Amino acid sequence: MSVTVKPLVAGNWKMNGLLADLEEFGRMSAGISSALSQSVDTMICAPATLIGAMAGKAAGGSMAIGGQDCHPDASGAHTGDVSAEMLRDAGATAVIVGHSERRTDHGEGDDKVAAKAMAAWRAGLLAIICVGETEKERKAGNALSVVERQLNGSVPDGATAANTVVAYEPVWAIGTGLTPTAGDVEEVHKAMRANLSARFGGEGEAMRLLYGGSVKPANAAELMAVTDVNGALVGGASLKSDDFIGILKAYA
Ligand code: PEP
Repeated sequence: MSVTVKPLVAGNWKMNGLLADLEEFGRMSAGISSALSQSVDTMICAPATLIGAMAGKAAGGSMAIGGQDCHPDASGAHTGDVSAEMLRDAGATAVIVGHSERRTDHGEGDDKVAAKAMAAWRAGLLAIICVGETEKERKAGNALSVVERQLNGSVPDGATAANTVVAYEPVWAIGTGLTPTAGDVEEVHKAMRANLSARFGGEGEAMRLLYGGSVKPANAAELMAVTDVNGALVGGASLKSDDFIGILKAYA
């Protein structure tokens, strides 16, 4: 059973953005009409260096600010890392965990991702937990089993619709311009909904499931219309206000 939930479109700026780019962020925020903000939640997950300034600029508007990763611990001897508490302190209300670039570049497995999700909750942040298969795994017919395994390992007990969002991001679709067919997205999202509902009951039914991977203004309406897709996680197209607003218009 699908429950009606307010969708979320979250941008992931990755390792992009200097103080000068706050102007672009300002244009984005200004471009979200109050009607649009009533039909879709919006967020930019900024590099840690910009969170404070962006949160200041976003104050009083509808755009939320998130981080892109956090350490499982609240503080300590972890040079270069940022804790969920620090993100919260800087003005973030959410954090992405388990992005495929973290899983690949930093060897993060499901246990680590689950620990980071729990750290997010501890700090009062929404955890945006990413899962998704590689091209090799899809070609081998293992997309559903990979996603199921990642869900089971990365989404901790205690997940609710209020503290967790799951983003399905096929690794081969990230930054490539390739997207799965709407039918393939629906198949994975239905399987994720079944998994989360079986595990978390009504909370799993109401949990927002985002699609991510080469979402653009031209394909957003089709992808966002898929059953059990409750929004998008957007990389490249979240860097320019025209593109990001163009994607949000799927909910106008
Ligand atoms: C991402 O990295 O989360 C992402 C979806 O990137 P892109 O939209 O650029 O494919």
